Amino acid sequence: MSEYYTAKRGKNLYNPKSTEPFKLSRSKIDLFVKCPRCFYLDRRLGVGAPPMFPYTLNSAVDTLLKKEFDLLRKSGDTHPLIKKYGVDAFPVKHELLEEWRTNFTGVRVLDKSTNLLIFGAIDDLWQNSKGEYLVVDYKSTSKPEEINALDKDWHDGYKRQMEIYQWLVRGNGLKVSNIGYFVYCNADTGLEKFDGKLEFALTLIPYEGDDSWVSSKIKEIHKCLNSDTIPQSAEDCDLCAYRQAASEALGK
Ligand code: SF4
Repeated sequence: MSEYYTAKRGKNLYNPKSTEPFKLSRSKIDLFVKCPRCFYLDRRLGVGAPPMFPYTLNSAVDTLLKKEFDLLRKSGDTHPLIKKYGVDAFPVKHELLEEWRTNFTGVRVLDKSTNLLIFGAIDDLWQNSKGEYLVVDYKSTSKPEEINALDKDWHDGYKRQMEIYQWLVRGNGLKVSNIGYFVYCNADTGLEKFDGKLEFALTLIPYEGDDSWVSSKIKEIHKCLNSDTIPQSAEDCDLCAYRQAASEALGK
């Protein structure tokens, strides 16, 4: 077994007898939504999915965008993209923003009824003229078409992500608009040559979130974590089909 996998395996598992708050990231909530069995294997039995290697180019775009919006936050100006889309918003200062943008710390809310400490790191926070906070997430990709809508099946995960962030920021006492924004950066591969740089087309996509499902999902997760019964698998999972086919081929 790979050293990396062995080192990661079995870390920070849920113990039903513990009285300490149990940290649960927004991505683990999403794992539960996609497949309670995989979630249980990960958080209760210590067998997580193989590691994903970091998307370093996406992180580079996030870092540069943060710097760009931070300059405007300081100067009090708005961003050309916000202007272009005629959005009532500006990058806002908040004393906790740095903490809220830090991975593994993020925005935190202790759900008292379950003792689960929910957390997730936001990319940015804007504010409108009504004083409402707007959660902002940066995305980067490379597609031939212009991206103006979250209309693909896999965008559902982005929508849940936004709704959990809105729930978390609200849980910290801020008045949060249901409207959040995705700053989408689409790298152009249609240029004649590379010249050592990528060029991006930026679009701004609003999304009206509804976080009303989050609290009940946390209770479901808590129930699952406290149960000794392993939940059913999700249907149509390529990874499970692969595991089954591999076991059959190996005669196990
Ligand atoms: S169905 Fe997929 S996600 Fe669920 S347990 Fe199997 S491999 Fe994991």
